[in-house]
Amino acid sequence: MHVRMSIIFVALLVLSMCTGPQGKNRGQKRSAATVASPGKNLSEPVRHAPGKVITVRPSHQDPVVPIGLRCIKRAYPQVRSIDAHGLTLISGERFIWDRGRDHMSLKRRLEDPDLKTMMSQCYSPGRHGTPPLVNHDPGRARVESFFRAIYGKRSSSVIKHLKSVTPPVGKAGIRVRVSSINAIDERLARIFGGLTAPKMKFRALFTGSAGYHWRTVAGTARLSAHSFGIAIDINPKYGDYWRWDRGADVYKNRVPVEIVTAFEGEGFIWGGKWYHYDTMHFEYRPELLDPECICPVVPDNPAL
Ligand SMILES: [Zn+2]
Repeated sequence: MHVRMSIIFVALLVLSMCTGPQGKNRGQKRSAATVASPGKNLSEPVRHAPGKVITVRPSHQDPVVPIGLRCIKRAYPQVRSIDAHGLTLISGERFIWDRGRDHMSLKRRLEDPDLKTMMSQCYSPGRHGTPPLVNHDPGRARVESFFRAIYGKRSSSVIKHLKSVTPPVGKAGIRVRVSSINAIDERLARIFGGLTAPKMKFRALFTGSAGYHWRTVAGTARLSAHSFGIAIDINPKYGDYWRWDRGADVYKNRVPVEIVTAFEGEGFIWGGKWYHYDTMHFEYRPELLDPECICPVVPDNPAL
């Protein structure tokens, strides 16, 4: 009997908590009882009745999922789920969002970035009139294991998915090999197709284009994006690369904006938007072109 009374008492107590300020008791005077306001720390003890102190735990809330992870999830169908701490691929492989890279040097962060570092610099699609800000290289940091998991762990597995695409150069036999995973080959074919008839003046830009090449980035031990079949270099004659101009410290570009926007429209970022510029280089990185992850548009200042 005593136990039953206790259960009834607890049930009434819980009911009074659930109705709260929006419940049927709204407006009535609560003697000796206080309710935490929405802005208060809900873990604080709340006094509901004389002599009774109850701890109200926060109601179940979804943990905050970083925006960058949401962009990655939308960009890669291989991602099964995301949560506050990382992502899980359909294969079961797990990638942690934040592995404490924030205070490392730029070099260390490039060598071994986490997903947070990879998404930490926003990309600005479209025309940009000013050279990139110092050390602003959106997309240059890549979690290599993530791209290996998506496109192939080693060259032999990447090669299995390569497809050849013919650039609009007017000569037969010139082909660029890229991955067919995530339809990168079809995207590139659409870009090339859109650049033909009215824009033949761009043909020379694609002479000598190169796609897949299992190799490291010049001067580093990091795998190049070309290793995964997700990147294409246009004609080096029209390209500028920061390493070639070492010491000059002057941004250069000879690639027309029409080419850049055609690639961006299919999910490719451009190395011409990096402080460490590589204007030949286009790379399939749709996570950086997601509307939620691109740089906020700064309106033109009419005073300038
Ligand atoms: Zn390249």
